Amino acid sequence: MSQLGPGFVSDPYEVIDERFASVEGDSRLERLFDGCRWAEGPVYVPAGRYLLFSDIPNDRIMRWDECTGAVGVFRTPSRHTNGGTLDREGRLVSCEHSGRRVTRTEHDGSLTVLADRYDGKRLNSPNDVVVKSDGSIWFTDPSYGIDTDYEGYRAESEIGGCHVYRVDPSGGACHIVADDFVRPNGLAFSADERRLFIADTRVNHIRGFDVADDGALSNGREFARCSNGVFDGLRLDEDGRLWAAAGDGVHCFDTGGALIGKVRVPDPAVSNLVFGGPKRNRLFICATTAIYSIHLHINGLALL
Ligand code: MG
Repeated sequence: MSQLGPGFVSDPYEVIDERFASVEGDSRLERLFDGCRWAEGPVYVPAGRYLLFSDIPNDRIMRWDECTGAVGVFRTPSRHTNGGTLDREGRLVSCEHSGRRVTRTEHDGSLTVLADRYDGKRLNSPNDVVVKSDGSIWFTDPSYGIDTDYEGYRAESEIGGCHVYRVDPSGGACHIVADDFVRPNGLAFSADERRLFIADTRVNHIRGFDVADDGALSNGREFARCSNGVFDGLRLDEDGRLWAAAGDGVHCFDTGGALIGKVRVPDPAVSNLVFGGPKRNRLFICATTAIYSIHLHINGLALL
C-alpha cells in the first residue's frame, strides 16, 4: 500500500481467500475528507445522494455531497452523535452520546426522541442503531460517551451495565434484548432478519444471534474474532458477507465467519462503514480523521 498523493491510496486490497478477488472494484481508495477528530456514524441518503457522518469530539454531523464533492456541517451541536441509520421511511435515526438518547429526524427537520431511558434510568451513550422491517429500533449502549469528556460528558452509569436494546414499533417501549455484553457496539441484521450480528469491542469479537418473531434473541455464538485492532461498525452485503470496521481497515467475512479479505486504510483505525451510491456498490469508510470511499463489485444490503 502506498500513498499516491492527495486524495488517493493505491492497492488497498488484501486478499486472504481467492474468493475475495471477485469483490474488488476500484484500484484506488479515494479520500473524500480529512478533517474529523474521530469520524463515525456514516449514513448514505439515496434520495439526496449525500453521505452524513459524525465527528464526535467536535460535536457535529458532517455532510458530503456525492454530486459536487462539497463537504459542510449538517448539524452542530449534535449532542455528540455517534452511529446512525435510515428508517423504512428514509428518516435519519441517530445515537446521541451526550444527549444519552436515540432520536429520529422527521421530514420537517424536527427531532423525536425514540429512547432515552430504561426502567426510569438514563441510557449510557447509545452507539449504533439499526431498524428492522417491522419498524422496531435496535441499538447498543456502551459507556464511551460517559467514560470521559472527550466524546460526550463524563457521568456515572445509571443502569450499571452496557446492554443491547429494542424499541417496540408500536408503543415505543424500550426492552433489553442482550445483557451479556461488555461493550456492545456495531450491529447488523442478515437479509432475512433471522440473524443479528453484534460486535463487542472489549471482548473483540462478533456474535451472531437467532432472532425470533417477537424480537427475542437466542443461541448467541461467536462468529468472528478481530485479528487487528478492535471491531466497531458492521454491515452486510447482498451475498451475506459481513464487513466489519477494524484496526487496519475493513475486514470481510464469508457467511461462515472466515476472514476472506480486507480493504486496508493507512490511518490508525476504522470505526464504521456503509454501502452507498444509488446501487450501494460504493463502500464509505470512517477512518479516524478521514472519510474514504471505494467502488466494489458487490452491493450492500438495502437498508430501506
Ligand atoms: Mg460504534
